[in-house]
Amino acid sequence: MGKKTVRDVDVRARRVLVRADLNVPLDNGVITDDTRIRESLPTIQYLLEHGAQVIVCSHLGRPKGPDPALSLAPVAGRMANLLGREVLFAEDCVGPVAEAAVASMGHHVLLLENLRFHPEEEKNDPEFARQLARLADLFVNDAFGAAHRAHASTEGITHYLPAVAGLLMEKEVRYLGALVANPPHPFAALIGGAKVSSKLPAIQHLLPKIDLLLIGGGMANTFLKASGFHVGASLVEDELLESARQVMREAASRGIRIHLPVDVVAASRFAPDAETTTVTVDSVPQGYLILDIGPETVRQYTEALQPAKAVIWNGPMGVFEMEPFANGSFELARAVANLDAVTVVGGGETAAVVVASGLQGRFTHVSTGGGASLEMLEGKTLPGVAALLDA
Ligand code: ADP
Ligand code: MG
Repeated sequence: MGKKTVRDVDVRARRVLVRADLNVPLDNGVITDDTRIRESLPTIQYLLEHGAQVIVCSHLGRPKGPDPALSLAPVAGRMANLLGREVLFAEDCVGPVAEAAVASMGHHVLLLENLRFHPEEEKNDPEFARQLARLADLFVNDAFGAAHRAHASTEGITHYLPAVAGLLMEKEVRYLGALVANPPHPFAALIGGAKVSSKLPAIQHLLPKIDLLLIGGGMANTFLKASGFHVGASLVEDELLESARQVMREAASRGIRIHLPVDVVAASRFAPDAETTTVTVDSVPQGYLILDIGPETVRQYTEALQPAKAVIWNGPMGVFEMEPFANGSFELARAVANLDAVTVVGGGETAAVVVASGLQGRFTHVSTGGGASLEMLEGKTLPGVAALLDA
């Protein structure tokens, strides 16, 4: 990755501040998915095994100042269970409370309270970054999911402490970076999700590198309409019809095969109990919304993917959160999992599909960072990565 990692520095007897991504979903203070806590453990364990004192910090949600509903305290409990050792908790991430906690932590792991209880975190305030830096001798950024933001705990702090990548950060940047920079061919992009607008920069960056482009999800509607089909009341971005045509023209001129849905599941309303019908794309009923790709499209996409040696998947094929519109996403998850290829998943909802399918272990890599992985697919440099020491 071109950056130093925890493996390149001596951590023994040093106080190490780890910026993790512990931004887990909470339902009334109960953690509903602990994937991000689990993914943060290898770096913490590595540091413990190599004799470091480990202080962990993270953001959680989008608080406007201190908010007990967004305290990281429940995460300390879950982390302790998963690590099999005590995890202390400090009720502030900077200042006297944090400093006293560090002074008395001994060889326990210490988790600091939500960074975003201080608005200075997102403002990348230098004084706040300096206060964080005072807690440790070394900074480890393992929060890939926050690396596309230049905040005090991802960028500012690197001006005051030597900064290296954690193991999760290294893995994310390695898989996503290598795939985009130097993919095995044929390289297929399976792109879906809600909107063309959010995926257009990634599609444009990927076009010169891919051999096959499969489009699904809500964004396929804009491509279908741009191709002359009537898409009823479906989500469409009319201002992007010309951009969609341009993508199709560029794909054609580069010899890239581009697939659009040939059949769809359309619904009378955006609701799980709506009237639904499976139709070819030339006969979507007036007033209906396209909410999933149809079975013939699933068959064609599965077949088209067979020769692929690499696949990037970003964006669900339909409104998978509602059972009647989940089939396309889960069938494609199975199809991609079954390939003999490098398979990488980026995007928060796409990762949720893969986890819910139970096939996560059959993908080469499922990114933990939604926005950050998309920015890597766009070819952007992430400020949280750029700020780390060069290897
Ligand atoms: P990711 O987080 O993986 O990058 P996006 O955020 O781009 O994915 O899109 C995910 C959302 O797209 C899902 O919540 C899903 O319900 C929605 N979606 C997929 N297909 C459609 C569709 N046909 N119409 C409306 N929304 C859709
Ligand atoms: Mg999303």
